[in-house]
Amino acid sequence: MHACTESAELGQYTEPAYTLSREDSAHPLILVCEHASRFIPPGLNDLGLSHDAAREHIAWDIGALALAEGLSQALGATLLAANYSRLLIDLNRPPHAPDSIPLQSEIYPIPGNRDLDEVTREYRRECLFKPFHARLQTLIDQRIAQGQPVRVVGIHSFTPVFHGQPRALEVGVLFGEARDYAQRLIDGLSQHPLKVASNEPYKINPLGDMTVPVHGDARGLESVLIEVRNDLLRTAENVSRWAGYLAPLL
Ligand SMILES: [Zn+2]
Repeated sequence: MHACTESAELGQYTEPAYTLSREDSAHPLILVCEHASRFIPPGLNDLGLSHDAAREHIAWDIGALALAEGLSQALGATLLAANYSRLLIDLNRPPHAPDSIPLQSEIYPIPGNRDLDEVTREYRRECLFKPFHARLQTLIDQRIAQGQPVRVVGIHSFTPVFHGQPRALEVGVLFGEARDYAQRLIDGLSQHPLKVASNEPYKINPLGDMTVPVHGDARGLESVLIEVRNDLLRTAENVSRWAGYLAPLL
């Protein structure tokens, strides 16, 4: 922790790194929302982004926390949600991934991440990344030790227009090893009039992703990442509709 005392960002991360809800749930599902928040401490000046860009999908997954909370409530399931923007450090990337602290996100350069010294990078890992993943690992360890079943599901949203291209897809189920679980979800979602796909709009990269490969697949647990298009999550009514689609399947 010595390095932290030398960073210009020292003292910026006064909020807890995550919020944990329904910790003692008996439901097998652990919901994870790595991109829940667009919060950047005021002292970091939105990392040099414009007011609007710092509120865009690059900073967080719009609507994902509301959906994750709706699912947590409907099922009484545990939810671990990040309290800081993914632009500070992406919790769904291993810390050595090139886009862990992104220099560019979609069409937006991130000025405040340019030329970061190693001390500051390590400070973000210590303050934001490590506590989140340590807590998730402990939650899983405790349940396994108690003989409880565990499933790990990341809740995300994606932008309807990416690099200028509109996306017709409405929901994607992303998976690595958990093919049977993913297929049950895809089959269940396909009962509704939805545009569903597996491993779209992204694919799980065993080396470039974090939650599914590390906390799920590597431990032999059922684990997927759900991506819902964010224009479908803009009202409370729509969020509840999506929670209604997903809750019985997860
Ligand atoms: Zn995301």
